[in-house]
Amino acid sequence: MVGMGIDESDGVMEYDAKSKTLNLKMPRKTSEKFFDSIRAKMKEMSDYLQAGLFLDYPSWYLSKTVTVHPLGGCPMGATWEHGVVDTHGEVYNYPNMFIADGSVMPAAIGPNPSLTIAAVADRFSEKVIEKWQTDLDLAKGKTGDI
Ligand SMILES: Cc1cc2nc3c(=O)[nH]c(=O)nc-3n(C[C@H](O)[C@H](O)[C@H](O)COP(=O)(O)OP(=O)(O)OC[C@H]3O[C@@H](n4cnc5c(N)ncnc54)[C@H](O)[C@@H]3O)c2cc1C
Repeated sequence: MVGMGIDESDGVMEYDAKSKTLNLKMPRKTSEKFFDSIRAKMKEMSDYLQAGLFLDYPSWYLSKTVTVHPLGGCPMGATWEHGVVDTHGEVYNYPNMFIADGSVMPAAIGPNPSLTIAAVADRFSEKVIEKWQTDLDLAKGKTGDI
């Protein structure tokens, strides 16, 4: 069984230039209530099904965690101080550089994310086309014809 939900999404990825490694700091404390509630529900189901053996997150014992929904590496934010990209996916302070994938989502959405990622990418593409059109119009204005 797999449990999914919305944690605090307060993990931070930091690049360590010295060791050239990308480190993930994932505070456990802030989402403890969420993890406990999932654990309790899983145990309840396991007991109901008379599973006998309840292994709570087996990979934890190998000091390994796993996610199939990695989100938020370059989160969207209202200003450059709060995010990497704006609400149209354009990277702050890097005009014409767009990011359109799961990394822009600021937090876990709870259920499987690929349709939401596709919807966000679709929205961003409109801005890319709009900017491209404006650039083209400006270039036409300058040169007369292209
Ligand atoms: C086992 C599993 C099951 C899942 N099941 C579901 C499900 O049922 N429903 C659901 O909604 N979601 C599901 N997900 C999650 C979903 O697949 C992801 O959230 C989604 O694909 C993420 O989309 P993305 O565009 O952000 O990244 P990705 O789909 O990972 O796309 C990134 C792309 O970038 C390419 N790339 C990487 N590095 C480079 C590079 N340097 N240069 C050029 N290209 C590069 C990769 O090859 C890849 O094509 C599942 C995930 C896993 C792992």
